[in-house]
Amino acid sequence: MTRVGIGYDSHRFVAGRPLILGGVTIPHPHGLAGHSDADAVAHALTDAILGAAGAGNIGELFPDTDPHWKDADSMELLRTAHELVRGRGYSLAQADCSVITERPRLGPHLGAMAAALASRLGVEAAAISVKAKTNEGMGFIGRGEGLAVIAVAVLEAR
Ligand code: MG
Repeated sequence: MTRVGIGYDSHRFVAGRPLILGGVTIPHPHGLAGHSDADAVAHALTDAILGAAGAGNIGELFPDTDPHWKDADSMELLRTAHELVRGRGYSLAQADCSVITERPRLGPHLGAMAAALASRLGVEAAAISVKAKTNEGMGFIGRGEGLAVIAVAVLEAR
């Protein structure tokens, strides 16, 4: 049996934090605000995986009111979510992520992000796709206030 889940996340750019996306630290004057390390790619993919299994969402599993998750490594939250759905008899077969941001240009980092995600999830590199696009200057993304990520995950029964 195959199950599909979608995840969405957005974070605001702030000064004084590193920009971490898909487990990769990307040179940029601004990072992302958040309780954890604010890795929006990891967060969106976590929600997609949980959603595909009907296993709730990232906010339920790792509440941002819990000091334990302060500055948490979101790639570890992602791995934990995958372990949870594996415990329910599923594993990640494929994932596709789109990062929507005006800056920085993410093209040079997409391969590293996909490799880092695949490595942390214990799946083949070819199973993970990460893409980037701008928002054509429109809205909060267009004004550079923040970025958003959409992710889709396909789980297969093991
Ligand atoms: Mg988030």
